[in-house]
Amino acid sequence: MGAPARPTGGLGSSNEMTLGVMGGGQLGRMFAHAAQQMGFFTAVLDPDATSPAGRISHHHVQTAYTDADGLARLASVSAAITTEFENVPAQALNQLARTRPVSPSGAAVAIAQDRAAEKAHFVRCGVPCAPYAVIQTAEQLAAVVDAEASAAQGLLLPGILKTARMGYDGKGQVRVTTPAELVAAWAALKQVPCVLEKMLPLQWECSVIVARGADGTCVNLPVQRNLHRDGILAVTEVYEGNVPQALAQRAVAAATSIAQGVDYVGVLCVEFFVLDESHPAAAGLGGLVVNEMAPRPHNSGHYSMDACDVSQFHLQVRTLAGLPLVQPRQHSPAIMLNLLGEVWPEGGVPDWAAVLALPGTHLHLYGKLDAKKGRKMGHLNITGATIEQVRATALEAARILGIAAF
Ligand code: ATP
Ligand code: MG
Repeated sequence: MGAPARPTGGLGSSNEMTLGVMGGGQLGRMFAHAAQQMGFFTAVLDPDATSPAGRISHHHVQTAYTDADGLARLASVSAAITTEFENVPAQALNQLARTRPVSPSGAAVAIAQDRAAEKAHFVRCGVPCAPYAVIQTAEQLAAVVDAEASAAQGLLLPGILKTARMGYDGKGQVRVTTPAELVAAWAALKQVPCVLEKMLPLQWECSVIVARGADGTCVNLPVQRNLHRDGILAVTEVYEGNVPQALAQRAVAAATSIAQGVDYVGVLCVEFFVLDESHPAAAGLGGLVVNEMAPRPHNSGHYSMDACDVSQFHLQVRTLAGLPLVQPRQHSPAIMLNLLGEVWPEGGVPDWAAVLALPGTHLHLYGKLDAKKGRKMGHLNITGATIEQVRATALEAARILGIAAF
């Protein structure tokens, strides 16, 4: 049996084509909005009755991600299916792929789900990542402890012990300085498979979004410069010169080869660390290392909705529907501020009127019901004629919202 036929450029208003997405979070919602703008119908599979994407989609299949019947229902209404979160069970994507084109593939998503597999993929693609060791067994832990004990200086310590699976927004991570702390941290993480990464001297962080079509065409958004706070993305800045040109070229080339290396179809985000090369812990790493990849649009690409002629969600629609990919052009410098739950005053809402009175502000809210600390509730894009103007407006918006200056 051959692979299911991929849609070839049909648009919804002529033949009512429906695009499906696994997951009903904000990324699924913004994908659905982009698809609907182009005339497609959308279908979402998510167990939650109030999921951000389920609430705005034409079809909402409300079952568990592994429910065979729910998956069959999603496939029956969808011409092609994508995903909006990497922890979707790979077996679910594989079931869908038996009858419908699914992109990215279960195999590509499986790599992104597991930090050990992901790092092995980076190494295979010739892209440097932080020095690391896989810790799945007591023997592997003992080997790391022994190596540290006999080395003149720390090899992987100080480091960060990260669970191989299911981590996000800095969850499932413990910073460790000594072998004893490492042993205790693995116990605290219930001895699940982990990766120990050397703590690197970060100067700043950036990310690249690439979109790759089934025919191998690859386009990218400009390199995003990102500020994280408490392990969560806080601010993204994108403008001419935000990143030195040679470094930007290296990051784009690395992201492209990571996509090509799995024959990726869809939108992929690759996150990078830019190192302080004067620090001994950066020795031999070449200044730029890859952190991780997300097999979907990414929070750091949200600025593209208002600052580029093709957004990351439009790219996702195009890759899924077999429509042409063209290199996006950024038409305005932009800053994105993440709106986390703590921006909401107790029992109330932020002063949107004051924010929207500032020129060049674009508010995106995800329709989530309760504003919990650290929960991504929305984002604010700020665009303008110059980055100086954009930054002044963004700082004023941040002040109104109680977000620390950057
Ligand atoms: P996300 O939700 O963004 O995928 P995550 O939980 O997967 O986050 P990471 O991306 O591994 O977490 O790490 C979160 C942040 O912690 C990074 O963006 C970086 O600021 C810091 N960090 C992670 N690994 C290292 C490292 N090896 N050295 C220094 N800082 C690090
Ligand atoms: Mg990350």
